[in-house]
Amino acid sequence: MADSQFNSGRTAGEASGNARHAARMARKKALIDAAIDAASDERGLLIVVTGNGKGKSTAAFGMVARALGHGMKVGVVQFIKSRTDTGEEAFLGTQPGVEWHVTGDGFTWDTQNREQDIATAGRGWAIAARMLADPAYQLVVLDELTYLLSYGYLDSDSVLDALAQRPPMQHVVVTGRAASAALVELADTVSVIADEKHAFRAGVKAQPGIDL
Ligand code: ATP
Ligand code: MG
Repeated sequence: MADSQFNSGRTAGEASGNARHAARMARKKALIDAAIDAASDERGLLIVVTGNGKGKSTAAFGMVARALGHGMKVGVVQFIKSRTDTGEEAFLGTQPGVEWHVTGDGFTWDTQNREQDIATAGRGWAIAARMLADPAYQLVVLDELTYLLSYGYLDSDSVLDALAQRPPMQHVVVTGRAASAALVELADTVSVIADEKHAFRAGVKAQPGIDL
């Protein structure tokens, strides 16, 4: 008897809890629907994925996969990196509709040659600038571009001008640590990935499928 009273009391409490939840969710849905209705613009976006945590380039490659799923033409320029044995290039780089360039010679501490780094950056940027001037590319990924700006290997104003003057429907994703204030200002969407923990610091070497 005590049990059944307890149960029925809980059931009534649950019922009013459920009703409150439903009312709260209905108010929330009205707000979200209004925000979705208000967001009616369609244009090419500049997305910046920056910060010290892992996941910047892989976020960009996720958008490449999405764009390809919609049959879009995609251009990718990987600055800095020299390796061409990554999973992303082997898979995404060989899909129809993708043009993939690896233009780096490695990090500054690998090359140890500033003149060479500047020349390499210029060659990579020439490819990127061609894509940014061509509306046929519906998504352009400029992977690790931020370093070329922070080291002064590319002229920041020229890069920002090319980004600002690109075709109106073209999406661009820029990745790399320490995005400049000017780049953040120009961007439509900026995500900063924090470095809470990384397996490398526990002695784990770069793992295929995760890191390359
Ligand atoms: P990913 O390519 O995995 O998305 P990312 O683009 O955010 O990483 P980068 O700075 O470009 O990061 O570095 C690429 C490589 O360095 C990857 O192997 C990645 O796992 C590793 N890495 C990224 N962040 C860190 C970190 N905070 N500490 C150590 N290694 C890192
Ligand atoms: Mg990266």
